[in-house]
Amino acid sequence: MDIKITTSKSSHLDGVDFDNLPFGRTFSDHMFVVDYVDDKWQNPRIEPFHNLQLHPATMALHYGQAIFEGMKATKMLDGTPALFRPELHAKRLNFSAHRMCMPALPEEIFLKALQKLVELDQAWIPPQEGSALYIRPTMIATDEFIGVKPSQTYKFFIITGPVGPYYPKPVRLLAETKYVRAVMGGTGEAKAAGNYGGALLPAKMAQDKGFDQVLWLDAKEFKYIQECGTMNVFFVIDGKVITPPLYGTILDGVTRRCAIEILKDNGFEVDEYKITIDEVVDAYHKGTLQEAFGAGTAAVVSHVSDIGYKDLVMELPPISERKVGELVKNTINGLRSGRIADSRGWVVPVGAEVADMATV
Ligand SMILES: *Cc1c(COP(=O)(O)O)cnc(C)c1O
Repeated sequence: MDIKITTSKSSHLDGVDFDNLPFGRTFSDHMFVVDYVDDKWQNPRIEPFHNLQLHPATMALHYGQAIFEGMKATKMLDGTPALFRPELHAKRLNFSAHRMCMPALPEEIFLKALQKLVELDQAWIPPQEGSALYIRPTMIATDEFIGVKPSQTYKFFIITGPVGPYYPKPVRLLAETKYVRAVMGGTGEAKAAGNYGGALLPAKMAQDKGFDQVLWLDAKEFKYIQECGTMNVFFVIDGKVITPPLYGTILDGVTRRCAIEILKDNGFEVDEYKITIDEVVDAYHKGTLQEAFGAGTAAVVSHVSDIGYKDLVMELPPISERKVGELVKNTINGLRSGRIADSRGWVVPVGAEVADMATV
C-alpha cells in the first residue's frame, strides 16, 4: 500500500525555539491520515498539518471509541532519525483497538507511516539528548450517528511535535483512596481516551493539595499499587526493584518493559508483584524506601520526591541518590541518541528500507 505524499508549501519551523518547548503545544508541518471505510483501510496519505472537519454526531465524540499511542523519534549522533521499539507501539495500538471494538490497523501501515512521516519532518527533531519529536498516533470512530454501537468507519492519524525533556522536576504523588482509574475487566489496559477523562478530577484534587499526580490503587481494596498518571511505577526497597505486574488494570508500558530488561541486565533483582501501599509505608518507616519513579515515554523516568497517603507524607531520599532511576533514564536516552550502542535492536533508524512492505 503506497502512501500518497503532499508536502507543505512552506515550513513554520523557523518560528520554533527548540530550547523553549512547552510539551504538546507545537506541531510539525505534516500529518499522516488513513480511513477505514467499507471494512478496509484506504487512502493512506501524508498531508500538510490541518484541522479535521467533523460532523457534530461523530461517534468518537459521544461514545468514546478513541485510542492513541505516544512515542518519540530522536536524532542519533550522526544525524540519523530513529524510532524506539515502534513494533511494540503497533501491537499495543491494536490491543487497545480490540478492547474498544475498533478495527486493527495492519502493523505494516503503522510502521511505514511512521517512517515516512518522521523522514519528511526530520528537521523538527530537536538534537539535544532528552529532547525528541513526540509522536501521537490516534484512532477515532467517525460514523455520523447517534446511538451506541461500534462505528463502521474510522480515521487513524499521526501528528508529531518537538518536545524538550518532560518533567524536569521530581513529582509528588498522592495515593488515591476514593477514586479509581481501572478495575479488572475494565479498559485500564487499553490506551483509551476515556481513561484519562475519568482521571482528571482526582488529579485536580491532588493538585489542590499540593501534589502533582495521583498514585492509583486497586479499585476493590485500595491496597495494591497500580500506576501513576501516564506512567508505570517502580520502587526500590532495600536494593530490590519492584513494579506491579500486568494483571489486567495496568498499561503495558514500553518504558516499563525496557526498564525491567535494562535493570536485570545490570544485575538488579526486579520483582513484578502486587506491591501494596502498606509495604511502601513500612519500608518508609524502616528507612529502606530508597527510590520511587514513574516510567513512560514522555518523561522516560520521573523521580518521585514524595508520596502522600492518608495523613502521611513520605519524603524520599534526595534525587542525587537515585541510582536505579538514573540508570534507566540514562540508558534509554543514551540508546535513543546513539551514545550507547544498541545491542538489543530497540532503535530503528528512519530512512532504512522497511521490511516486508510487499505484503501491505
Ligand atoms: C502511555 C502510558 C504509560 C506509559 O507507557 P509507555 O509505553 O512507556 O509510554 C503508562 N501508563 C499509562 C496509563 C499510559 O497511558
